[in-house]
Amino acid sequence: MKKILFASSETHPLIKTGGLADVAGSLPLALAALGQDVRIIMPNYQGIKNCEPGRYLCTVRVNNCDVNLLETRLPDSDVIVWLVDYPPFFNFPGNPYLDEAGRPWPNIGERFALFCRIIVEVATNRAYLDWHADIVHCNDWQTGLVPALLSLEPNPPATIFTIHNMAYQGLFPGSTYAQLNLPGQLLHPDGLEFHGMLSFIKGGLSYSDRITTVSPTYAQEIQTPEFGYGLEGLLAHKQSQLRGILNGIDVSVWNPANDAYIAKPFSVDTLKDKQINKAALQQQLGLPVESETPLFGLIGRLVEQKGIDLVLSCLQEMTTLPLQFALLGSGDKSIEYRLQEFARLYPEKVSITIGYDERLAHQIEAGADIFLMPSRFEPCGLNQMYSQCYGTIPIVRKTGGLADTVVDALPESIANGTASGISFNDASAAALIEAIKRSLVLFHNRPVWKKIQRNAMLKDFSWQNSANQYLALYNEI
Ligand code: ADP
Repeated sequence: MKKILFASSETHPLIKTGGLADVAGSLPLALAALGQDVRIIMPNYQGIKNCEPGRYLCTVRVNNCDVNLLETRLPDSDVIVWLVDYPPFFNFPGNPYLDEAGRPWPNIGERFALFCRIIVEVATNRAYLDWHADIVHCNDWQTGLVPALLSLEPNPPATIFTIHNMAYQGLFPGSTYAQLNLPGQLLHPDGLEFHGMLSFIKGGLSYSDRITTVSPTYAQEIQTPEFGYGLEGLLAHKQSQLRGILNGIDVSVWNPANDAYIAKPFSVDTLKDKQINKAALQQQLGLPVESETPLFGLIGRLVEQKGIDLVLSCLQEMTTLPLQFALLGSGDKSIEYRLQEFARLYPEKVSITIGYDERLAHQIEAGADIFLMPSRFEPCGLNQMYSQCYGTIPIVRKTGGLADTVVDALPESIANGTASGISFNDASAAALIEAIKRSLVLFHNRPVWKKIQRNAMLKDFSWQNSANQYLALYNEI
């Protein structure tokens, strides 16, 4: 049994801004089910909810700050969560990275440097918890200083650093280094320095024993200039330590046969009941209730990464095709505005919901026929996996985790029973609209469409497989 300290800046359902929280709320549970002793560590934000209030454990002094450690658990489980409680940094409204007005926290570097220092104290059993980690599993730049600081310790625990998105690196002006009072021996081009700046993510990449990212294809992509953001050379250099392990999905939450949010649960054997969910969704969104009109769904952050600009470029033409489109998301204000304009002009065809709404997300996954996910890059992506479980055929761009989880419906894959979606290569509106038209042809070929739905719904995206791969990695180091 390994003692694993799982460090993350967000954990579902306590606090979530994206897929990292889903991983932090699921992988430790799957590892615990494999008999491992896993503890999660995260900051004690004001916005934390859905857990018992943290019980005070101890106070640890780092960098002249007295920091409390509190203990709670993931809901309905025995997995311990240690909350790093330092009110001057974390007791504010807002999310882990942005204030209430959507501005990055001005002291975000100080916040996560303090978090990293506490992780080091806990991992090395200097926090009076009588627990010494074998493995520290760090996630994204917010925990990047941990492997670097641990490298200065005698007999440090082994470290894994998982990249959930290379686009976020924790880059700060060089002067921040002295302000954070970090040890001088780490500041060099093979350490935390990146072109004269301080890079938190480089701490994870340069000093950890293993680097993972959340899909095999993304592990290859980040070794190229297009996806590596200047760190492709370092990643290529460390490729023997770099692994891609797909995220799983929480099948207790995302299971059409047992989903309390949807009008009528269904399974691969009762696929006709998907129609009931489609009709309920159409009615709820004010779209004409038409069973033969394919309903396209999209859920996600409205940012360039998600290829939402490609969707916007296609929307005019989509309104001329026999289809409906339901979108749920929030993000870039100008994108939100342009999408809402389409809904205003074409209320019979387009429904746009701006906001974050878990219930509606489930209802779209259950009720839509086709799911759009034309991401420019996608480290892993979750919605394309949810979609397949719900028999909602995803249209994806062939990148990152989308390439690894969706099998394009071509004559060969249809014949051999592996087709589970539609994929296209170019990040262009022309390629997306062609894929949409291809899906319309397939949709109206009912026997083939049903076959693709069955293939998709029978795929196993549970965490168990991923957790076994992580465990094999922990045992390697
Ligand atoms: P990313 O982490 O890049 O945002 P992922 O696909 O990996 O993308 O994960 C996004 C998660 O957030 C999914 O669980 C998705 O359903 C959820 N999500 C995103 N936007 C919304 C929204 N507006 N309402 C409800 N859920 C959302």
